[in-house]
Amino acid sequence: MFEVHQNPQPRTEAERAAILADPGFGLHFSDHMALATWTADLGWHDREVGAYRPFQLDPASAVLHYAQEIFEGLKAYRHANDSIWLFRPDKNAERFARSAARLALPVLPTEDFLSSIETLVTTDQAWVPGGGESNLYIRPFMFANEVFLGVRPARTVTYCCIASPAAAYFPNGVQPVNIWLSMNYVRAAGPGGMGAAKTGGNYAASLVAQQEAYEHGCEQVLFLDGAERKWVEELGGMNVYLVAGDELITPALEGTILEGVTRDSVLTLGAERGLVIQERRIAIDEVLDGIESGAITEIFACGTAAVINPIGSIKTAEKTYTINGGQSGPHTDGLRSTLLDIQYGRAEDTHGWMHKVC
Ligand SMILES: *Cc1c(COP(=O)(O)O)cnc(C)c1O
Repeated sequence: MFEVHQNPQPRTEAERAAILADPGFGLHFSDHMALATWTADLGWHDREVGAYRPFQLDPASAVLHYAQEIFEGLKAYRHANDSIWLFRPDKNAERFARSAARLALPVLPTEDFLSSIETLVTTDQAWVPGGGESNLYIRPFMFANEVFLGVRPARTVTYCCIASPAAAYFPNGVQPVNIWLSMNYVRAAGPGGMGAAKTGGNYAASLVAQQEAYEHGCEQVLFLDGAERKWVEELGGMNVYLVAGDELITPALEGTILEGVTRDSVLTLGAERGLVIQERRIAIDEVLDGIESGAITEIFACGTAAVINPIGSIKTAEKTYTINGGQSGPHTDGLRSTLLDIQYGRAEDTHGWMHKVC
């Protein structure tokens, strides 16, 4: 149970309306946040939804030094009848538990994860934008909050969940993204590393490659595996799919990539479109040759934020490989609209993926 302590000074209705009229992404936060504390002695306690406010962190707080931290990302969707829904939040709860285990953090029980989100979203339901493909982005996270510079799993841990109104990812229609193929950097070490955990450290490792991408006129990075630099893994924060003929192909889960909820949903929706699903290793040469020969007709990235994002080109130091003339393709567009229609309640939820909050 997350007990609600109302923020004594919430934003006025006019202030909130001004933010919701043009929320951008990750810039504004709702009036409340969920909190819980774990200590080695007491386990999880002090669960509450209270006023959104800064933390007081001791300079010796362990997370600032050793990055023992994990997070999640999901959205609350307002349907036409004003009800508010989550998409497969149980999958995020399970992944949060797996990430916690990998980072030697305590597992937050699924019911606490879900109730923190439900209580926060219910309390701040006025912050869920309506209309278009706007949403309330939800960010649960957990970090080592013990004041101690020794290296071991922290004995004091903070769980927090904040919420941020977000505009439609593509306000002016879907824009294909241009991808830089990183040969100098990997995002995750390989088997035994933490590539499958949703942790800030993987993002920190990806930023220098993203800088390189910008310098080459690309927006995002495609990473290869850490061991051989041969196999396609994923982007910095999105999984990747290829379409070749009637095949829908994505890298298999071998513990080095993030197990995306969107990735998993696309496996189901792709099969329903009649595509033949393949989860397997994909050599980068197969991808580049396939683009050149025309065997690969579509490539897209997927994740909660962008949902499904067509990839227009892959750029290497030598060459730019343009897919489908740099345009999105029919399966990319079809999967994207099918998924969005389910999330926004415009299509029947035949898989039981939607979870009503209020
Ligand atoms: C969060 C994330 C994804 C996408 O996962 P979804 O559950 O679909 O949002 C993919 N790759 C990485 C590295 C991520 O952190």
